Amino acid sequence: MIASIVTVGDELLNGQTVDTNSAWLGEKLNEIGVTLSLKLSVSDNIKGIIDGLSYASERSDIILMTGGLGPTKDDITKVAIAEYIGDTMSFSDVTYERIAGFFKASKRPMLEAHKQQCYMPSTASLVNNPLGTAPGMWMSHNDKIILSMPGVPREMKGIMSEGGLKKINALVEGSYIDHYIIQTAGVGETTIAEKINDIIEDFPPEISIAYLPGVASVKLRLTVKATQQELAEKLTQTFGNRITERLGNMVYGLGSIKLPQAIGKLCIDKKLIIATAESCTGGGIGHELTSIAGSSAYYTGSIVSYSNELKQKLLGISSETLSNHGAVSEETVRDMIHGLVDTTQCDIGVAVSGIAGPGGGTLEKPVGTIWIAIGNREKIKTRKLQLIRNRRLNIDYTIVLAMNELRLFIECNF
Ligand code: AMP
Ligand code: MG
Repeated sequence: MIASIVTVGDELLNGQTVDTNSAWLGEKLNEIGVTLSLKLSVSDNIKGIIDGLSYASERSDIILMTGGLGPTKDDITKVAIAEYIGDTMSFSDVTYERIAGFFKASKRPMLEAHKQQCYMPSTASLVNNPLGTAPGMWMSHNDKIILSMPGVPREMKGIMSEGGLKKINALVEGSYIDHYIIQTAGVGETTIAEKINDIIEDFPPEISIAYLPGVASVKLRLTVKATQQELAEKLTQTFGNRITERLGNMVYGLGSIKLPQAIGKLCIDKKLIIATAESCTGGGIGHELTSIAGSSAYYTGSIVSYSNELKQKLLGISSETLSNHGAVSEETVRDMIHGLVDTTQCDIGVAVSGIAGPGGGTLEKPVGTIWIAIGNREKIKTRKLQLIRNRRLNIDYTIVLAMNELRLFIECNF
């Protein structure tokens, strides 16, 4: 089944409001195996809405609409739909009772404009709106379905979750969908694609794969659509496992897990205490690690030594190291680990020092030169990154890559 989305509202076209409704709907449709082929945004006028509807209905089986159902004069979606499907408007007593009850409960007067919300195309069946006055309206025309919902995102989501998705699902019955999500970090999507290309070539027609790149990470999502649930699940597991195995330690977890969570799990499993010494990331790694509930069980804290003075004072970096090699050097991040382990008694430390930019680079150490060290008294692994001229990206990449090096260090050594 093919779906399209038509969002209505001048504010979507003049840039005042970003169309988040389509993004959310797209994700939900994808989850239930409905293919979205088209998204259109049209302004608040009847002709525009009708044009949008006829364009979409030539190209899809179901049209999801949001916007233009409020009590104000500019909200004219339902009048446009009635004209498009050749229907008349009629007063919905059910909706009146509901809206009247809503105003009675909140001790506010019901206005004439609210009564207008009770008029709708006579053939529309209602989908409950748990969070507002305008219900969802489900209509059919020439074997195509139209579901019209208010533009307010939480109301639209309420209508979809309350009944809309279930009604759409009933139309695609006999088709099962399953997902398998693989989280990777530290490598780009091209590297991953090259590694698993032969497996993808083996895919039966029921499976598709999406590469969803993030900062220094790529999420892979396998989607299986089959006519039987058992078959869908079997295909997902078979191919999901094959890809996971092939990617080896590029994978830090499956499903919705985040990298700091994966690190937390490893630390708890292996009874490790970790700490960080951060220069160019300014505490960003600590911030990520402590975003996980329960992180106090394995994370003691960060020494944010941004200046050379603090590197010397708090981490015991010698002035020789700093003057001979500079603050951004392998020697300095190694010594940061020594100082960090001495001060915090952690089992594994993470140290970073780099030139995030945009200024401060030299010929020898251009902007984007970052050193990472992971380790303890027995063993230290270092890595030099050569990133780009964008400060924010350099910091964000360093945070993720340092956490990923920490994960790999634990996986390899403990
Ligand atoms: P309406 O149903 O047209 O009265 O929309 C009410 C409000 O919902 C608008 O003023 C916007 O702030 C918001 N809204 C409408 N359409 C969208 C959309 N596609 N994405 C996000 N917000 C929206
Ligand atoms: Mg509007």
